[in-house]
Amino acid sequence: MQQLIDGYVRFRSDVFPQHSKLFERLATGQQPQALFICCSDSRVMPEMVTQSDPGTLFTCRNAGNLIPPPTEAASGVAATIEYAMRVLKVGDIVICGHSDCGAMKGMLEHERLESLPVVQAWLQHAGPSSKWLTRLLRDAMSMTFDQKLRLLTEANVITQMHNLKMHSSVDAALKSNSVRVHGWMYDIGSGGIQQFDMEHGCFRPLLAEEQIGEEMQELKIA
Ligand SMILES: [Zn+2]
Repeated sequence: MQQLIDGYVRFRSDVFPQHSKLFERLATGQQPQALFICCSDSRVMPEMVTQSDPGTLFTCRNAGNLIPPPTEAASGVAATIEYAMRVLKVGDIVICGHSDCGAMKGMLEHERLESLPVVQAWLQHAGPSSKWLTRLLRDAMSMTFDQKLRLLTEANVITQMHNLKMHSSVDAALKSNSVRVHGWMYDIGSGGIQQFDMEHGCFRPLLAEEQIGEEMQELKIA
């Protein structure tokens, strides 16, 4: 705990004074650019990765970056989405999965969830297609656990991109072309981001130069 308090001391003495104008402006309102939905994992820091100042990202975090249907009673996720769309009118929604995700590991290996009944119930929101894929992957002997985990985590991002549309506020914004939905995969070890390419149905590096680098690498291996 002391580490957190020491950090606060540095924030008050060094960081806040440097950005006092920004905080003054933010004190009475926000106009975030994007709704950022990601996992609660401590290693995923959307503000750091996107180098965003306070007031830029409206974030929603939960285990496995899941988006339950809007019918769920008292869903904090649904309320956050509705507020982002109808009040803040964000122009972009990012759903960001990540490497080494504990929630996705739990889906692949049920024994990890034996003492976690609440997590187990929560992960039901990953949806039927993820459950179907999980069953297939458990029996896929030719794949390593890491490959399975990667596949399931990517599939979960795509599923949640679709789940978003079940929320009427998102559906309406999509129909009027006032919001764009992006699916990202963040790799903790390399710091790289891959984005889901809707047209080709695959994840590609977010940056074009990283895409070229990856293709060169593939050519070398071939
Ligand atoms: Zn995670």
